Amino acid sequence: MSLPRNACEIRAAVAARDVSAVEVCREALDRITRLDPTLHAFLHVDEKGALERAAQLDRRPPAGRGGGAPGLDRAPLLGVPVALKDNICTAAMPTTAGSRVLEHYVPPYSATVVERLEHAGAVIIGKTNCDEFAMGSSTEHSAFGPSRNPWDTGRTPGGSSGGSAVAVAADMVPLALGSETGGSIRQPAALCGVLGLKPTYGRVSRYGLIAFASSLDQIGPFARSAKDMAALFGIIAGRDPRDATSAADAVPDYTKALTGDGDISGLRVGVPRELLQDGVEPGVRDAFDAALRELQGAGATLTDIRLPHASLAIPVYYLVANAEASSNLARYDGVRYGTRADASTLSDLYYRTRARLGAEVKRRIMIGTFVLSAGYYDAYYVKAQQVRALIRKDYEEAFARVDVVALPTSPTVAFKLGERTADPLKMYLSDVFTAAANLAGLPAISIPCGLTRETLPVGLQLTGRPFDEATLLRAADALERRFVTPRPDVDSL
Ligand code: GLN
Repeated sequence: MSLPRNACEIRAAVAARDVSAVEVCREALDRITRLDPTLHAFLHVDEKGALERAAQLDRRPPAGRGGGAPGLDRAPLLGVPVALKDNICTAAMPTTAGSRVLEHYVPPYSATVVERLEHAGAVIIGKTNCDEFAMGSSTEHSAFGPSRNPWDTGRTPGGSSGGSAVAVAADMVPLALGSETGGSIRQPAALCGVLGLKPTYGRVSRYGLIAFASSLDQIGPFARSAKDMAALFGIIAGRDPRDATSAADAVPDYTKALTGDGDISGLRVGVPRELLQDGVEPGVRDAFDAALRELQGAGATLTDIRLPHASLAIPVYYLVANAEASSNLARYDGVRYGTRADASTLSDLYYRTRARLGAEVKRRIMIGTFVLSAGYYDAYYVKAQQVRALIRKDYEEAFARVDVVALPTSPTVAFKLGERTADPLKMYLSDVFTAAANLAGLPAISIPCGLTRETLPVGLQLTGRPFDEATLLRAADALERRFVTPRPDVDSL
């Protein structure tokens, strides 16, 4: 019997004892063993821990009868393998954030999302590759080498959460978590042809997420179907007393928000057409236009809107994110976390430890320190915060007329390895359409919307009102019924 591949099917089959959690786990590990030497999605695979955990789930007592406790049989992710971006802390596994500074580092605690996944019956398979400290759009800034796109291994999967996107796209696991600061879930999701969701700021606890830019960072899910994503998202969303910025708003049952029949009548989709003028590849543009037609076909209406400050998102993002990064990364001094260089004086210890940071991380610390310094603070940092408020206001005004805003997730398809590494600005522009949602704190999703002529996936991005992830998942579900999303042919790798 072939094993189920999607999370909801796996859960149902394991709960019914049709298949064991160990069989499912073995299958995931086998695929990783076969594919990962080429794709390099993982930095750490916890084969032993995952199999032990699966066996423990298989030993669960039968479901209670006559009003007894339902126990694990009802657990929403029972036996489902999940991969985690390597900037999410795990007490049982190393957590490097793609950096030599945290090589071999094993955190003393697990992130709240990890505890929640375990409570939901998931099996954590391992940790996925990412750009160092989540700074990048291709995984090429990972200290441990890039991941490769399963659609074309000469291309990047996008980043920074590229490893998680690859693990889901190549069907090594049905679900993965990544993190976003300016597009790091949506962009690799688009480039790899899977769903990726950046939640509303505060919707998911950041406790145990290695900080990059604290006012922008959010953990979010990758999946191959809206139903699977809804199941995962309902588990990780919600207030956490250990993260003061997490929101107390009630968490709806996202699985109930899906359409059931693909009908999204009444959904008003805003299209900021003037942002599509430059730099969008023709293949991306065509797929985006086709996606808009499918949204209409499913009952949505389209309205032209304007987001007058959205074109400033990239400069504003790189001022705010780097300012916060320069402060957050000061903790890697060789004293408190991770690796410690041999040194005889304190300044030498700092110097030698920080010398292990990659060039991109150093660049950002320098820019961030500069924009926060006396004399430049008002000109750069304060100005950026002011424009950030205008970007947020643009969306507020748009949401008076429409329910979601549509754009391509990325202006290009997956680019070739090495194509943007020599030019940081070119790499930064990967996020032209994604960074605004982080600055405005809004939820946004990337939905696969077909392939270009070169058989590379394109993502449609929908941005929603604060805490309205349900509408995004609903639209994703409707589109999924209209686009048959092919999978990359990984068996030939
Ligand atoms: N690519 C963006 C950057 O390099 C976004 C990264 C992210 O979202 N973590 O900062």
